[in-house]
Amino acid sequence: MPFKKILVVGEVGLGGLRPESLEAVNAALDLASASGAEVAGAVVGADAETAAISLAVTGLSTVYLASDPRLDNDLPITRALTSVVETSGADVVIIAGTTTGRDVAARLGARMNAAVASDVVGLEASGGDVVARRSILGGKSLVSVTLQGDPLRIVSLRSGSWAKAATDKSSGSVVPVLFELSDNDTRVRVDGIQAGGESGGVKLQSADTIVAGGRGLKEPQNFAMVEKLAETVGGAVAASRAVVDAGWRPHHEQIGQTGQSVTPRLYIAIGISGAVQHNVGMQGSEYIVAINRDPDAPIFKLAAFGIVGDLFEVVPALTAELSK
Ligand SMILES: Cc1cc2nc3c(=O)[nH]c(=O)nc-3n(C[C@H](O)[C@H](O)[C@H](O)COP(=O)(O)OP(=O)(O)OC[C@H]3O[C@@H](n4cnc5c(N)ncnc54)[C@H](O)[C@@H]3O)c2cc1C
Repeated sequence: MPFKKILVVGEVGLGGLRPESLEAVNAALDLASASGAEVAGAVVGADAETAAISLAVTGLSTVYLASDPRLDNDLPITRALTSVVETSGADVVIIAGTTTGRDVAARLGARMNAAVASDVVGLEASGGDVVARRSILGGKSLVSVTLQGDPLRIVSLRSGSWAKAATDKSSGSVVPVLFELSDNDTRVRVDGIQAGGESGGVKLQSADTIVAGGRGLKEPQNFAMVEKLAETVGGAVAASRAVVDAGWRPHHEQIGQTGQSVTPRLYIAIGISGAVQHNVGMQGSEYIVAINRDPDAPIFKLAAFGIVGDLFEVVPALTAELSK
């Protein structure tokens, strides 16, 4: 049966709507334009009103809202989202590829007996079905899967695969949804959330500019160069796994398959080779600038701008030039 209504789920983060949810909006709009389906939004969480308003100003006509202090983790969120999906009448659900998003997508799929695809980087409509392109083997290969209807198809995205939707449209209506939680749904309670450090994961997720350093820096103290450039351009500091494993930088700064996925406007990679496990975490950046002395380094395949040279000469010169 052809799908008629797509529900895009907005995730509530520490500072309101998580930016990855804006990528999910564009994924939903793409699929809608290929199929003629309607698009609505859903926000489920504790203190979720602000996030719902942020989702509504992407131009969605309706955003369903379930806001309740008990909706503070994946268990009750999935339960309430089930009610929201039923109320909305959606037959496709699109969720951002965050840790929570992937978890909720799988739980919702089990609860609603739906077809689920995760790590999705492309969506098409074909004969009433949803065809999803999934990234597998840490981004090395792509597989196409068809999600056949009845009753529901659920897709969680790979971060950075769509641009973020603009939030300057006229606001759609926010519609509260009633839901019930059982004792089972509230077995886990979040007692407090501690944000990462100054350059921590939370900051990286929302940074417009990221300056990342790798093993090419040779010594941990040489990261001072990365920090100085980051300070000059108002960016956050990140790292490859090689330097995190070496204990030079904290894990919350690691970008890649086993670290953070980020989608800044500008990603400057210094002394990073561009291993596939690193690239999957940053390839959605709008502009990638690579500084590496090896002209054949794989990072240059992704980079919009590349500087082949010794980082110990290039980075101080670039910082001095930019600080003018
Ligand atoms: C299961 C698994 C998961 C992984 N997850 C991640 C992950 O999440 N994130 C991640 O980053 N990696 C991850 N890795 C590791 C990944 O495969 C690479 O080993 C790692 O990304 C390499 O880090 P690097 O680029 O800093 O170091 P290297 O690969 O050693 O690259 C250093 C680069 O610096 C350049 N260089 C050296 N000196 C200079 C100089 N003076 N001037 C300019 N350039 C210079 C070199 O040409 C080289 O390209 C994972 C691996 C596995 C197997």
